[in-house]
Amino acid sequence: MGAGGRMNESETKRDVFKHVPVEKPPFGIADVKKAIPPHCFNRSLSTSFYYLIRDLCFVFSLYYIANNYILLLSPPFTYIAWPLYWFSQGSVMVGLWNIVHDCGHHSFSEYPLLDDTIGLIFHSLVLTPYFSFKYSHRTQFNILEIF
Ligand SMILES: [Zn+2]
Repeated sequence: MGAGGRMNESETKRDVFKHVPVEKPPFGIADVKKAIPPHCFNRSLSTSFYYLIRDLCFVFSLYYIANNYILLLSPPFTYIAWPLYWFSQGSVMVGLWNIVHDCGHHSFSEYPLLDDTIGLIFHSLVLTPYFSFKYSHRTQFNILEIF
């Protein structure tokens, strides 16, 4: 329960508001966007495909290593190897998911049809429905832009 358990209810609420910013910040999302150099908003098809293919190579390489070498290890070593594989593969796949997630923001390329095609294929591979995610995620993002 922590220190809050020793306080009465009014002291606890006051303590919470003392540490939580309740006022609107003196800047908006437009100010944050202006602070980012304009070249950061340029989309590069070659750079996007480079990262997509690089991450796919990492995923398949890690899978190959696990499928061909970890299975050969004896039990004490597998207790270390499998968690290392899960952590490594999970980290790489989060990066891959992030690239595909950018397709929904139309930041993968200048071509919306290509973004949707790449997004649909790779979101489907990770069992995430692309278009419903894209529209609901954009709605959340637009709500954040109001503030
Ligand atoms: Zn997003």
